[in-house]
Amino acid sequence: MRNTLNFNAGPAALPLEVLLEAQQNLLDFDGSGMSIMELSHRSDVYERIHQGAKVYLQKLLRIPQEFEILLLQGGASLQFSMVPMNLLSTDKTAYYILSGVWSEKAWKEAKKWGKTGILASSKDTNYNFIPNDFSMPEVDSASYIHLTSNNTIYGTEWRNYPSSSSIPLVADMSSDLLSKNIDINQFDLIYAGAQKNLGTAGVTIVIIRKYLLERSSENLPTMLNYQIHAKNNSLYNTPPTFSIYILYLILKWVEKNGGTDRMEQLNKEKAFALYSKIDESNGFYLGHAKENSRSRMNVTFKLLTEELTNKFLQKANDYGFVGLNGHRSVGGCRASIYNAVPLSHVQDLITFMEEFKQRLY
Ligand code: PMP
Repeated sequence: MRNTLNFNAGPAALPLEVLLEAQQNLLDFDGSGMSIMELSHRSDVYERIHQGAKVYLQKLLRIPQEFEILLLQGGASLQFSMVPMNLLSTDKTAYYILSGVWSEKAWKEAKKWGKTGILASSKDTNYNFIPNDFSMPEVDSASYIHLTSNNTIYGTEWRNYPSSSSIPLVADMSSDLLSKNIDINQFDLIYAGAQKNLGTAGVTIVIIRKYLLERSSENLPTMLNYQIHAKNNSLYNTPPTFSIYILYLILKWVEKNGGTDRMEQLNKEKAFALYSKIDESNGFYLGHAKENSRSRMNVTFKLLTEELTNKFLQKANDYGFVGLNGHRSVGGCRASIYNAVPLSHVQDLITFMEEFKQRLY
């Protein structure tokens, strides 16, 4: 039972402790005689979870009072549309930095809504680095700048975010929010689907500066309007109560385990160990991302030939490793090592990589 080594990209590994707590409370939550899934979203019991998740987020990410935290549905993909729908006015341009398929998708949705521009792109080299060398657009013409902080598919991650001065900076942090310390003040809007570091699919976190809420036009469809969700404390309609409960448990677990400081330290350790193995393999394992753009969440690599890569993946599968296949758009291998993946699993993978190199192929 549960002897798999889960390196899935998302939905991904969850801490066993969290799963056990959810299991324990599944039939009778907090003495209510009901499962969390059976409680009204207007009940006091549920309200405590809903508020609790927001308070934990605020504390763990050090979110200042100027920001509103929204718990929405539709995944990060719906944010690709909601961001331009709410923020982009007809007289201005939304600028996108293309660092992978997810940022391309975000840009394509924005194009349907208004004027857009591309500030920088690493598409020509199959997105193997963070394109952070560009000049800022003119403040008066720009509605916002959008970037993807961690590129789940290619395994690249921003280290130093652009300083946008007075242009709002929007970030898709789906695959690295809560994995490290960030200064929220550098951003104006952050969004993330929960199914990597924050829990399970179904809830999307949006952290938005309150002043930006004024940009939401009342002509927008109600459910796509940030201002309406903010006014209703993300309870305009029935929220995904179970996903928010799991988010709450994950946040509690992160706090108990040392907060984002400790998560960052552990994630650095895990990533360093894995990249070292790749670098020391004399070209047997080949990393995809350029060194200064390497992600601490998704480690992407391949072997010399496609045949060898497939053999590696097959053997890894036989040994109980799950989710090591690269995304279908790039192939190769990818180890996703989010917060809930223990260092011991990464060490097991490293041992397997060494064994495969020495005697299994
Ligand atoms: N952005 C990033 C960086 C992602 O990794 C993903 C999903 N893997 C998405 C957006 C899309 O998220 P969702 O499936 O929640 O719409």
